[in-house]
Amino acid sequence: MTSQAAEVRRSSLRLPSIDRLLRSPACGPLLDRYGREAVLGTLRELLDELREPARLGQLSAPELSEEVLAGRAGERLANQHRSRVRRVFNLTGTVLHTNLGRALLPDEAIDAITLAARYPLNLEFDLATGKRGDRDDLIEGLIRELTGAEAVTVVNNNAAAVLLALNSLGARKEGIISRGELIEIGGAFRIPDIMARAGVKLHEVGTTNRTHAKDYEAAINPRSGLLMRVHTSNYSVQGFTKSVATAELAAIAHEHGLPLLEDLGSGSLVDLSRWGLPKEPTVQEALRDGADIVTFSGDKLLGGPQSGLIVGHKDLIAKIKKNPLKRALRVDKLTLAALEAVLNLYRDPDRLAERLTSLRLLSRPQQDIRLQAKRVAPALAAVLDESWQVCVSDALGMIGSGAQPVARLPSAALCIRPQQPKRLRGRSLRRLEEALRGLPIPVLGRIAEDALWLDLRQLDDEAGFLAQLPQLQQALQQEQAP
Ligand SMILES: *Cc1c(COP(=O)(O)O)cnc(C)c1O
Repeated sequence: MTSQAAEVRRSSLRLPSIDRLLRSPACGPLLDRYGREAVLGTLRELLDELREPARLGQLSAPELSEEVLAGRAGERLANQHRSRVRRVFNLTGTVLHTNLGRALLPDEAIDAITLAARYPLNLEFDLATGKRGDRDDLIEGLIRELTGAEAVTVVNNNAAAVLLALNSLGARKEGIISRGELIEIGGAFRIPDIMARAGVKLHEVGTTNRTHAKDYEAAINPRSGLLMRVHTSNYSVQGFTKSVATAELAAIAHEHGLPLLEDLGSGSLVDLSRWGLPKEPTVQEALRDGADIVTFSGDKLLGGPQSGLIVGHKDLIAKIKKNPLKRALRVDKLTLAALEAVLNLYRDPDRLAERLTSLRLLSRPQQDIRLQAKRVAPALAAVLDESWQVCVSDALGMIGSGAQPVARLPSAALCIRPQQPKRLRGRSLRRLEEALRGLPIPVLGRIAEDALWLDLRQLDDEAGFLAQLPQLQQALQQEQAP
C-alpha cells in the first residue's frame, strides 16, 4: 500500500513548463539582469537535466518549485556571467609579477585611460596645424626631456621593440653580440630566435663568462649591420667574468660606422638606489654612454602600462618607424594615455615614490610591513583552527619580471604552519592554498619550508583582505566535513 502510494506520488511529479517559469515572479529579477535569451537557455538546460530524475521519482516536489528552479538558474547565470578577468591579492612577495599583470598603475594613469576610452582624442591629429599627426608625438617631448633621447617610438612590449629595432637596422646583415648575452627571457623570448625572426644573422663573440673588446673588433666585417648589447636582467654571471661596457662598445661600433643597440629590459629612468633598491642601469646612462638605440619595457621598473619603448637617434628612429612591422606592433590609445601620465610623474623625482604605485610598493619599508603583519595576524589566526599556527615572520621578496634576480626585498609575511606530523603537512598546505585561491578575491601566497607565506608588501586593501576571512573559515570547515 505504502509503496503504491509512493509510486503515485512519484509519477505525478511533472516539470513546470518553461513558459510558466519565465512568467513566475522568481524569474523576474533574472530576466531583468541577464535578458530573456540567457535565462531561457539556462532554464531549458536545467529542465533537460531534471527530466529523467523527475520521471524516476528521484526528486521531491519542493525541488521542482519555481523558486528553487529560479534559484538554481540564477546561480548558473551568475557563474557564467562572472568576469574571467579577476582581481587577486598578490601576496607572493614578487612585486612585478608577470603572471599577475606586472606594474599596478597610479591613479593619474587610470584617469588618463578612462578619458581616452570615453572620448575622442588627438591620437593622430595635430591640434596646432589641424593636420594628421603621429601617435608617438604624444610622448616624444616627455621622453626627450626625461632621457635626453632625440626621438622615440612605442610598441606593444619590449619583445616587440627588440624585434622591430633589429629588423629595421640589421635585416640581411650580421648582428654582433656577446655569447654571455644570448639570454632567454621566458615565454620563449630568446635573443637568438628573435634575431633569426628579425632577419639578422647572429654573430656571437666571446665566451659565456668573458667577452673582450678585441672579440667585437675581430668580428666586424663588411656584412656587419649592428652591435647589440643585452642587459642580462634575469640572471647573473659571477666570478671570473668580463663584459664590455656600453661606452667602450659604442666607441668600437662608431669607429666602424655601425649602430649600437642596447636592450635594457627593465630599464629605469631613475637611480633606484635613492630608495634603497638595487641599481639598474638607467636609460639616460645607456644613451649618454653612446648607445644609439635603447629598448626597454613600460611595465617593469618604469611602472607603466605594457609597452616597449625604443629611444635614440632621430634618423634611426625614423627608419624604425618606416618599417611596416611598426604598424603591426603599435600601441593603442589607452596605453599611450597611461604611459604619458606615468612619464609625467618622473618630472618630480622627489615625490615619485609616493605617486608611482610600483615604486611605492617596491620601496615600502620593512618596518611598515611588519607592523601591518602584526595587525593582521590575530584576525587570521582567529579563523584557523588549532591545527594551524600563524606567526609574523621576516621574509625576502623580489622585484620580479627578471629585474635584479638575485636582489631580495626585506619584507614581512604571515607565516602559516600546519601543526601536524611532517607527512601530513604538504596536503594541508595545498588545501589551505586552494581555499585562499578560491576566495571571491583570490589570495595568492607561496609555499616554502613547510609553511604558507603571505608577504604583505602589497597588501594595500587590508579591509578587503580581512572581510574575506569568514569565508576562508567556512571553506576550510566544509573541507573538513567528510
Ligand atoms: C623583460 C625583457 C624583455 C621582454 O620585455 P617584455 O616587455 O616582457 O616584452 C626583453 N629583454 C630584456 C633584457 C628583458 O629583461
